[in-house]
Amino acid sequence: MRRQKMNTVLLCRTCGKETAHELEYVNDAMTRATCLECGETLNRSIDVIEALSKEMIARLLTKPNRLRDELRSQGKWRFMIALPYRVTSKPYRLYRELSENMRVLRSIGRP
Ligand SMILES: [Zn+2]
Repeated sequence: MRRQKMNTVLLCRTCGKETAHELEYVNDAMTRATCLECGETLNRSIDVIEALSKEMIARLLTKPNRLRDELRSQGKWRFMIALPYRVTSKPYRLYRELSENMRVLRSIGRP
């Protein structure tokens, strides 16, 4: 789960004119728009379970291709030598990813 911010110009209802806004996205879903002049903020809730499920399914479906690409770019010997390390470090990498997801969820006001 990734969180991104970008700036754009939108019509602000409070200011009554086009102003700079900061948009916040979680994955590809916009969760917040804030007027940078008056601070008016519009929040949009997202279905966290749906977002995480889509991300997980996409990763599972693309895993064979990603492994094939790594095999091609690294060569089979280097790939095979690195495989035991990758397998043993997977729990730690999953823990880091889960921690990052929890940090993103807390930042958008989710438990
Ligand atoms: Zn405004």
